Amino acid sequence: MPVQKAVVIGAGIGGLTAAIGLRRAGVDVKVFERRTEPSRLLTGGGFMLWHNAFVALQKLDLDDRVSKVSSEILHHEFRSANGRTLARWAIGPEAARIGAPAVALRRSDLNSLLLEEAGDCVVMGTQCTSFEQDADGVTAHFADGSTERADVLIGADGMRSAVRSTLRNGHDLPPRYAGYTAWQAIAELPGEDVVPSGTFFNLWGKGGLRFLYCRLNENEVYWDAITSDEASTAFDMFRKNKRDVMCETYASWQDPIPQILAATGNDAILPIDIADRPPTRDRAWSHGRVVLLGDAAHAMTLNLSQGAGQAIEDGVVLSGLLAREPDLGRAVARYEELRRDRVDSMVRGAYRIGELGKWKSGVACGARDLFMRAFFGTFAKKGTYRLMMNFDY
Ligand SMILES: Cc1cc2nc3c(=O)[nH]c(=O)nc-3n(C[C@H](O)[C@H](O)[C@H](O)COP(=O)(O)OP(=O)(O)OC[C@H]3O[C@@H](n4cnc5c(N)ncnc54)[C@H](O)[C@@H]3O)c2cc1C
Repeated sequence: MPVQKAVVIGAGIGGLTAAIGLRRAGVDVKVFERRTEPSRLLTGGGFMLWHNAFVALQKLDLDDRVSKVSSEILHHEFRSANGRTLARWAIGPEAARIGAPAVALRRSDLNSLLLEEAGDCVVMGTQCTSFEQDADGVTAHFADGSTERADVLIGADGMRSAVRSTLRNGHDLPPRYAGYTAWQAIAELPGEDVVPSGTFFNLWGKGGLRFLYCRLNENEVYWDAITSDEASTAFDMFRKNKRDVMCETYASWQDPIPQILAATGNDAILPIDIADRPPTRDRAWSHGRVVLLGDAAHAMTLNLSQGAGQAIEDGVVLSGLLAREPDLGRAVARYEELRRDRVDSMVRGAYRIGELGKWKSGVACGARDLFMRAFFGTFAKKGTYRLMMNFDY
């Protein structure tokens, strides 16, 4: 008999997607989230969902709702710091071919929408501390002393997952710090003249600096300034606030970067040290009745804009298998079989792109610009789409 009751730990994008899928299939689900309200990481910035994430959302009929709160990306443009175009991908025709758009949206909008769809099965302010399992079920333990028993426990509790750690008896490597920080924020910048809608801009500078931005809606622009450790050590964070440091660091960059930074409030800027988990074959995502998904299973750096997309795919695939497959062991094994190679390639690919972004010297960055001009419009685009659309579920 397929799973009757599931416990999900973590009401992030992956956990909520899995819960929605299970609920729709008639499984009794409870989601436990340690925060009393969505975290700033969830509410703070914006982000991008590529076509593959949208295809997964279509499977749960969530695509129309997500479309309503997002802005379609029609071009992905790579530039140097002086504003020179290195490559420009036409995304619109790909969306038409695939039947699913690429979009940019506020994290908070996606999170609220998924929370609403998941409904009353989400319990906020309840932190999972451990679990134990036996032949008949699995019991989750929470910080307030309560417990919850189910047929399966899904660990969707993010990069520093307690479920993952318990699954490995506390013997787990910490996430791998990638050597750079993403300073992300949303700026109030109305009008199409400074930042036009429909294009995701990806700027590569010297000295370990990058800058990504795109319009989210008629008033707001999302940005991410990515600074390598070597660049960040020069920041005078004692005497200056985050906005002033960003404005100073990017002062010589071509417009609209200084304009975007000037339009951002200091408190809106959230620096996040970027980390991932390098894929290792010897570490399964599951054991018995416990299975990991999203960042808890396979955290990746932000460079392919796929972490949330993969968490959504995980949620759709796992919930479908758990609801259909009479044998829990087979469902979980099939989930890993369908997901691991795909996600591992993304983790590795995203890490490699991040390494290119750390290049410092003018000569090396000049060579990188030439390389990007020669290959990014063609081979890199083809390779990215091949990776992105290579799924079978
Ligand atoms: C700067 C930046 C930019 C990014 N941009 C993109 C992008 O453009 N596109 C994209 O697809 N991805 C992007 N990502 C990646 C994406 O944010 C993550 O991959 C995604 O949020 C993972 O979702 P998740 O549900 O697995 O984990 P999370 O979003 O981390 O959610 C985990 C949840 O579990 C809760 N939790 C943790 N521990 C416990 C516990 N013990 N008990 C109960 N609850 C617990 C947490 O509070 C949290 O709500 C970006 C990441 C960063 C840092």
